[in-house]
Amino acid sequence: MSTETKNKDILRGGQFLVKETPCEDVFTLEDLTEEQKMMRESTKEFVDRELWAHWERFEKKDYAYTEECMRKAGELGLLSVAVPEAYGGMGMGFVSTMLVCDYISGATGSFSTAFGAHTGIGTMPITLYGTEEQKQKYVPRLASGEWFGAYCLTEPGAGSDANSGKTKAVLSDDGKYYSITGQKMWISNAGFCNMFIVFARIEDDKNITGFIVENNPENGITLGDEEKKLGIHSSSTRQVFFNETRVPVENMLSERGNGFKIAMNALNIGRIKLAAACLEAQRRVLNEATKYANERIQFKTPIMNFGAIKAKIADMATNAYVDESASYRAAKNIEDRIAIRESEGNSHQEAELKGVEEYAIECSILKVAVSEHVQHTTDEGIQIFGGMGFSADTPMESAWRDARISRIYEGTNEINRMLAVGMLVKKAMKGHVDLLGPATAVGEELMGIPSFDTPDFSQLFSEEKDLVARMKKVFLMIAGSAVQKFGPDLEQHQMLLQSAADILIQVYLAESTILRTEKNAKRFGEEAQATQIAMSKLYLYRAVDIVIQKGKEAIVSFAEGDEQRMMLMGLKRFTKYTNQPNVVALRTQIADKVAADNGYTFD
Ligand SMILES: Cc1cc2nc3c(=O)[nH]c(=O)nc-3n(C[C@H](O)[C@H](O)[C@H](O)COP(=O)(O)OP(=O)(O)OC[C@H]3O[C@@H](n4cnc5c(N)ncnc54)[C@H](O)[C@@H]3O)c2cc1C
Repeated sequence: MSTETKNKDILRGGQFLVKETPCEDVFTLEDLTEEQKMMRESTKEFVDRELWAHWERFEKKDYAYTEECMRKAGELGLLSVAVPEAYGGMGMGFVSTMLVCDYISGATGSFSTAFGAHTGIGTMPITLYGTEEQKQKYVPRLASGEWFGAYCLTEPGAGSDANSGKTKAVLSDDGKYYSITGQKMWISNAGFCNMFIVFARIEDDKNITGFIVENNPENGITLGDEEKKLGIHSSSTRQVFFNETRVPVENMLSERGNGFKIAMNALNIGRIKLAAACLEAQRRVLNEATKYANERIQFKTPIMNFGAIKAKIADMATNAYVDESASYRAAKNIEDRIAIRESEGNSHQEAELKGVEEYAIECSILKVAVSEHVQHTTDEGIQIFGGMGFSADTPMESAWRDARISRIYEGTNEINRMLAVGMLVKKAMKGHVDLLGPATAVGEELMGIPSFDTPDFSQLFSEEKDLVARMKKVFLMIAGSAVQKFGPDLEQHQMLLQSAADILIQVYLAESTILRTEKNAKRFGEEAQATQIAMSKLYLYRAVDIVIQKGKEAIVSFAEGDEQRMMLMGLKRFTKYTNQPNVVALRTQIADKVAADNGYTFD
């Protein structure tokens, strides 16, 4: 396929909302190469041997053990997957990076946070924005695990409002170094890192600037005590104080005032990787819960035989399957976009930056959805274990606590919901995604007389795909009217934006899942995909419910009278099933398969 054709065919970021994607165009976990499968296996082996077998140590705040495991991961090359070969890395594609991030993160949030902070926000700013000298000097050490990195953006007064930090960088009289003074907080890996990416403000610049700062206590750097946290007990999290810390001018990252952009782009990548980091945790929790439910006898029968437990198992499996489907679909879009940009003459650095930026909407969607699913799954894991789930002697309790942080860091879920919708509207304004045309068409459809023909839904997923297309219309109807009504003031209407984001999230997740299963049903047969088909149908049913609820909330918040009535009628029409699925039967079918396999076997 020529670059031009490929470029035309690959969805741009946010375009999933207005374009139909053929199932053959989505990448799925079933498309992994042999090399990627081997990499997955060796990652799993590492996790089972070094992390899962010692999970109590992570709960006992054994920070040294986290560091030791990070070093071992470095020796095995697991820290260097995303790093270009020129800087001592494996230079593998975005899908492989996601894969390692996914499977390495399931055993304990302590290690996955250390891993994510080092390989993502601790290293990526240099690979993406560093000069050749900076990359040669720092990246090989970071890739091998000889050095560890940390990322200092947050301050006591600057959390979500990240560009408001007070840390100062003052140029020396001889122009040779900056003197950095300020307080950073919640810094992951602070206790054992060799290098910080630090964001500071020069004079009264509007935007902050990024610096690479080596960790040298004799250079005005001191650390606070380890934070006492709800979860991720062995992830080192400390305050970092800089007191006239000298940083050579050549350690500035990119240009003066470019720090906010660096910080945000590092977070875009961090967000999709965080979604990946919440996948294996779901599979492992489900596996443990399934084993327990199969073995635990109450009322003379394994509790797995109870419908109340089956419903939980079915929803947990479905969430994991859905999240995999959407995460790897986006990862491959990013990988392809990077390849296209490289073939057009961009450097790898530039191509990667632009490739991820293109899918920032999907990155935010995934961060929110998957972090909330892992929370739900760990919660149900505790419930299935009953009293034992509440005990610190089983891994459910720590999994539940560890999962909680994912909704907070890498931009809170509230911020990411608003970003997802806000970025989409901005793309539409710039003409990168045509929302106006489809939104106008939906408006016209609403004024017209609905068709009373009985549709032919005999093909696999024909009704489901029709419903997804109509869910997209719900978003276009609401977002289109809201933009018209509020214009640039839309960002002030946060409750409306949160509801719109929930609809957008459900569209992306439900569509990705159905397309994955459709693709696999075509090549492996419907019988082989029977449980996946059931999971796709179950998820869509739940997604439609959310769309109805959030759609109503959004519509009545800003539309009145005839307009409100018309939109509510539209909502009803766009979310209508011709054939209501029997979700009890679907859940039973899914749970029975998971129970029979004694765990999750769909990845
Ligand atoms: C364990 C841990 C590790 C971390 N690691 C790092 C790290 O390595 N490096 C780093 O730089 N930072 C790190 N952080 C910081 C993290 O990124 C911030 O905690 C996060 O961005 C939220 O900032 P905040 O805590 O100041 O909350 P705030 O920004 O004060 O937010 C509080 C609440 O208000 C909401 N809110 C804030 N602004 C808005 C708005 N405009 N509209 C609507 N709602 C809003 C938020 O969603 C949230 O619910 C870490 C945090 C923790 C807890």
